[in-house]
Amino acid sequence: MAVAANLGFPRIGAHRELKRQTERYWKGELTEADLLKAGQELRLRHWQLQQEVGIDVIPSNDFSFYDHVLDMACVVGAIPERFGWTGGPVSLETYFAMARGRPGEGPGGGVPALELTKWFDTNYHYLVPEFRRDQQFQLASRKPVYEFVEAQAYGIVTRPVLIGPVSFLMLGKARGSAFNRLELLDRLLPVYQELLSSLAQAGVRGVQLDEPWLALDPPPEGPLGDAYRRAYAALAEAAGPIRILVATYFEGLEENLATALRLPVAGLHLDLVRAPHQLEQLLRHPLPDGFVLSLGVVDGRNVWKADLTACLEVLERAARAWGRDRIQVAPSCSLLHVPLDVTLETSLDPELKGWLAFARQKLEEVALLTRALNEGREAVAEALAANQAQVAARRASSRLRNEAVRARLAQLGPEATRRPTPHRVRREAQQARLGLPPFPTTTIGSFPQTAEIRRLRARYRRGELDQGAYEAAIRGEIERVIRLQEELGLDVLVHGEPERNDMVEYFGEHLEGFAFTEHGWVQSYGSRYVKPPIIYGDVARPRPMTVEWIRYAQSLTDRPVKGMLTGPVTLLQWSFVRDDQPREETCRQLALAIRDEVQDLEAAGIGVIQIDEPAFREGLPLRRARWPEYLAWASECFRLATSGVRDETQIHTHMCYSEFNDIIEAIAGLDADVISIEASRSGMELLEAFVAFRYPNQIGPGIWDIHSPRVPGAEEMVELLRRAVRVLEPDQLWVNPDCGLKTRSYDEVIPALRHLVAAARRLREEAAGQEA
Ligand code: GLN
Ligand code: ZN
Repeated sequence: MAVAANLGFPRIGAHRELKRQTERYWKGELTEADLLKAGQELRLRHWQLQQEVGIDVIPSNDFSFYDHVLDMACVVGAIPERFGWTGGPVSLETYFAMARGRPGEGPGGGVPALELTKWFDTNYHYLVPEFRRDQQFQLASRKPVYEFVEAQAYGIVTRPVLIGPVSFLMLGKARGSAFNRLELLDRLLPVYQELLSSLAQAGVRGVQLDEPWLALDPPPEGPLGDAYRRAYAALAEAAGPIRILVATYFEGLEENLATALRLPVAGLHLDLVRAPHQLEQLLRHPLPDGFVLSLGVVDGRNVWKADLTACLEVLERAARAWGRDRIQVAPSCSLLHVPLDVTLETSLDPELKGWLAFARQKLEEVALLTRALNEGREAVAEALAANQAQVAARRASSRLRNEAVRARLAQLGPEATRRPTPHRVRREAQQARLGLPPFPTTTIGSFPQTAEIRRLRARYRRGELDQGAYEAAIRGEIERVIRLQEELGLDVLVHGEPERNDMVEYFGEHLEGFAFTEHGWVQSYGSRYVKPPIIYGDVARPRPMTVEWIRYAQSLTDRPVKGMLTGPVTLLQWSFVRDDQPREETCRQLALAIRDEVQDLEAAGIGVIQIDEPAFREGLPLRRARWPEYLAWASECFRLATSGVRDETQIHTHMCYSEFNDIIEAIAGLDADVISIEASRSGMELLEAFVAFRYPNQIGPGIWDIHSPRVPGAEEMVELLRRAVRVLEPDQLWVNPDCGLKTRSYDEVIPALRHLVAAARRLREEAAGQEA
């Protein structure tokens, strides 16, 4: 018989209990024992839920108080020296110190946390393990064993999830001297072996070892095939009665498929949503005796109900080839990346709600598919028919289509995605209009979101404040921010974004085709969760979204005020996106909406418009072979949004990361007049990419790291600017912070911006001195 399996369940709780309890613990309002108890309750509730809906293979050790990669680092004792750990079990204090750092005063005070980085192409962030060349490992936490035993006490037999040894090393980074992390494999494997023995003793009969790296391009160090073979030979030796399932997701295995099938393990999980072609590849390979396949047919990365009949066809095909006994039916990946339960939503309209499946519903789908496979379609005929009807109803719904938008997009020619003249020509027109000094100063958009502003928006939302009063208060805030910038002497001003809760949500709320949930939270990192909007239908802009605020800001001052918009790629990337058409098509619709807004801002007399694309890079496919395709449509969408303006209208963009080397051509291809980027932390190192490529347009490398509460002095900023001047043309340079200021306080913002303006002035004087 086929079995219904799950790879991982969201940890945060239906009402974000995990966040509330951990934050209370951090504030000292909850004892350690109570926090542990809260975790235990969540785990039990989630195991029972999975059992209730009919999942046979229920994961354990997928729970985490902060992050599962951090958990794994603790299991193997990879705890950097600075945390003062001297062996033995890792305390909760040490655990959270690794996640959040330890506070401390003065230079050298405090202990920095592990670095945080994105989990593949998701919006989940994990803590990066640190390894030294002389790294030693030891079994320092038995969390996987305890959680198995805990579930067993409730009569639930689970399959513990661990990060596989090769991927674990690849997820970390070398500290101290540079070396190949895989050199540590031989030292790491005995710890995994010891863990497996301990799990076996506790009664474990199956484990899931996640090796997402199997689905990636080989790293610069070279192919990993040999590392997998060595690792799994060692694990097989220690596994005893435990059957190991190697799990992959987010991409296809391609060149690694043969390697994976030859590992001495009991089975393999494949993501057939992201890489459905793997089934055909698999059918061409002989399967080892008794080898099981876990087939990820239900999308673990998106919120739509599955087309169960289509899934079933895939499963039946596999069953014909190998027999049902060898099949596990599963979501494509851990359900960590979707919200918990759609039945909690009370304000979504029933039609839309009927299209959605969150974690709980996805497991119901898995269970149903498993039954259909085992007992035949007739056994669940009613449920299948209902699903087919829903899928068909969604496809036919009039709410999906906006013919006007489609017609407009179909009519656009290539000139719509190109500004008619080159930057150097536009630049003169813009300078004639704006009259900016050399090294012009500006900020990235938001000013501090004070408690007062947040309260204001919340009261308006709850209906406690009428529109007139709300708008007057926002106008007051805009005026304050404009006056402040004038007083500080900035050249291109912003309105400060006080009306925006979030840079995607704000636009989503003003666009057609978007829906919002009440409880659709997913973990971003630690106790930070996000509630992505859902793009369900054609995107259209019924009316201007930002023009009145920006026009008002501009009316207060003679200096140029920069209009501030979120770009199409970022709107796409930070939402759950409809799956009934290619992402690029949805992105084009978003781009058209933003293009209309850009043109309306221009018509309202705004001369500088910034389109933020902080998520441009993270949209890159995991496999490099698919990069060119993505970069082509993503930059076309950006250009569609920005090319409808006259020469004298200056287009800015902003990206807040510092890896540009491999996408610099695409960035230049966006043809923004000015790009502001994060640069201060790397000490302007990233500019090398811009130099090597001879970046043609203007650029504002950030000179103030706004992610840190530290206020840099003017001298330090001058030094960063001098470095930039050494590698770029002085007339290419803008002066600005790394990112928006919304998370900072005015105590930091005012002095830092004073220093920033002073630094720009110093450079102007130096430049004038050289000319004289
Ligand atoms: N304009 C936005 C702000 O200043 C940009 C935010 C971002 O880059 N993430 O807040
Ligand atoms: Zn930014």
